[in-house]
Amino acid sequence: MKWSWKIARLAGIDIYVHATFFILIVWIGLSFWIVGGNLAAVINGVSFILALFACVVLHEMGHALTARRYGIRTQKIILLPIGGVAAMESMPDEPKEEIAVALAGPAVNFVIALAIWLWLSVSTTTMHIEQFSLAEGSFLEKLMVVNIILAVFNLLPAFPMDGGRVLRAALSMRMTHNRATQLAAKVGQGMALWLGLIGLLYNPFLIFIALFVWIGAAAEASTEQVKSSLHNATAGQAMLTDFQVLSPDDTLSHAIELTLAGSQKDFPVLVDGVMVGVLTQDDLLKGLQAQGEQYHVSAWMQKDIQSADINESLEKVLARLQTCHCSLISVTEDEQLVGIINLDNIMELIKIQTAIHEQNGQTKFEA
Ligand code: ZN
Repeated sequence: MKWSWKIARLAGIDIYVHATFFILIVWIGLSFWIVGGNLAAVINGVSFILALFACVVLHEMGHALTARRYGIRTQKIILLPIGGVAAMESMPDEPKEEIAVALAGPAVNFVIALAIWLWLSVSTTTMHIEQFSLAEGSFLEKLMVVNIILAVFNLLPAFPMDGGRVLRAALSMRMTHNRATQLAAKVGQGMALWLGLIGLLYNPFLIFIALFVWIGAAAEASTEQVKSSLHNATAGQAMLTDFQVLSPDDTLSHAIELTLAGSQKDFPVLVDGVMVGVLTQDDLLKGLQAQGEQYHVSAWMQKDIQSADINESLEKVLARLQTCHCSLISVTEDEQLVGIINLDNIMELIKIQTAIHEQNGQTKFEA
């Protein structure tokens, strides 16, 4: 993430802090200055926020270290004004493991709260639980309350928050991972709407959290959708088999005819059935501007071509299409060109598979 700085390294995991976090610190400091009017109030307010975020780091470490037990590494933990994010390589596929990883974070906050409570009960003689609140109470009392709030709040079933992950994992024991993600994301977005509404009425900070949950849920849902659509599909399933080809000796005017006659934009250029280049619409337009329509395709085609085997997984083909700066990948079977594939083909396949999955999911729920 841009605009973040490394501040520490704990158990082999780098801790980063995002620039916007400093805005929060300044804002807290200023508001304590305005209310308290002295430096002591500012120091008290800012050190409370720092202690709170130390608890957030421990919460994220809870996730990270539990994930490590299942062989999943965590690259870094980033602190944002709305909380922490542990950037894990992946989530465990096993639902029980995912639940353990998700619960480990809130569990850390409960343990901190319990430890403070034990400390307070031996060190002070006058402790009244019913008087605890965020507005009053000592530094430690407030820290205890805030840890309980953190734990409970994170356990709300608002995907991608911890409680939402528990929900997704529990659902995926009874349905496909993708279906469970879509459902958990819907519950998360419903929750985000309520949070946003409560935020409008009582606390604007909740609106940020709601936005974060909403966007996070949508992003997780669509990534999972794409992954599951492409997981078992092959290049052969998405390729275009009905397409026009050019020869290097064809003129650009012939390419214009083909472009205007159909919907194809990019043309493979073949010599004896073997692909030697690609003429994209951009290439064609550049050639027309520079030299006119009587010039040959060979002068303007791209010679750097990418090809995939008909059985190659679509997940890999998509990854290549996104990194190769090419608009088209040729699909071959026994070295012979059998189809072409571009981003549009893959997106079409995803849309179709999504529709089929939703149909299946609905019938499953009605039954
Ligand atoms: Zn968490």
